[in-house]
Amino acid sequence: SSLSLSDFTKLTVLGSGSGGTVYKVTHKQNGGVYALKLISSDPNPTHLRQLCREKEILRRMISSDSPYIVRCHRVFEKSDGDLAILMEHMDGGTLDHTLKKEGTFSEPLLANVAYQILNGLKYLHSHKIVHRDIKPSNLLVNSKWEVKISDFGVGRIMGRTLDPCNSYVGTCAYMSPERFDPDTYGGNYNGYAADIWSLGLTLMELYLGYFPFLLPGQRPDWAALMCAICFGDPPTLPEGRGSEDFRSFVSCCLQKEAAQRWSAAQLLSHPFISKSR
Ligand code: ATP
Ligand code: MG
Repeated sequence: SSLSLSDFTKLTVLGSGSGGTVYKVTHKQNGGVYALKLISSDPNPTHLRQLCREKEILRRMISSDSPYIVRCHRVFEKSDGDLAILMEHMDGGTLDHTLKKEGTFSEPLLANVAYQILNGLKYLHSHKIVHRDIKPSNLLVNSKWEVKISDFGVGRIMGRTLDPCNSYVGTCAYMSPERFDPDTYGGNYNGYAADIWSLGLTLMELYLGYFPFLLPGQRPDWAALMCAICFGDPPTLPEGRGSEDFRSFVSCCLQKEAAQRWSAAQLLSHPFISKSR
């Protein structure tokens, strides 16, 4: 259509991450409310190459019809290389934000959240897309408690200068063992399993209220964290916490060997999910 960036008015800043700033905007003529993510270009050739690939993913996602993926309406590319991505506005913000505001998630709520994320992952994986950055801050929720996956690596392309682990419990923290050590943990099995590992950690965090590899309040030490992921046992819920079904579900996600991890489709029929439906 003939949408143009000048048709939108900025209302507020919704947030900013490593990749850019996201604004709540409204369309001047029809009054519709959207989220607009602005990413400024980065002349680094590695980033530019990655950007091309990610734009291709976005282009494919524009035609996405999955209710479990944040709808991307348009990508505007300015002549200076800056990008503007017009998205569906999720009025509940991130699951990260929900956790901080409303406290830990009950098992029935988590089963519902997991069901929606798994459907999103099943959709992406069946379209040969690995998300690679599943974490609470990339999962958005709205007031109908619809949970959707956002951020197809766009945040990882640009603005990521020196340290990829720059935010508190940032991208590295949710990375699977085979991404650190492909030879030991089946790095060439398939990339999709990495998203399942990140999902397992995400669900544990929403249940416990803290990142499972760290004690509550503990600050991350990246070297120690990477050692724990690669050489330690996968995290489990503390003794006496969680139903048998939930504990089993988490352990199906957090197998260190990529090939041992369940797929999104398999997890959808795990009792933790199926009994709750
Ligand atoms: P990272 O850079 O590691 O991905 P992030 O996910 O917090 O971190 P962004 O993806 O740039 O960074 O998003 C910034 C913030 O903007 C999010 O945390 C969220 O609060 C808000 N946001 C992003 N997209 C939307 C959306 N479609 N609807 C509502 N809020 C959004
Ligand atoms: Mg993000």
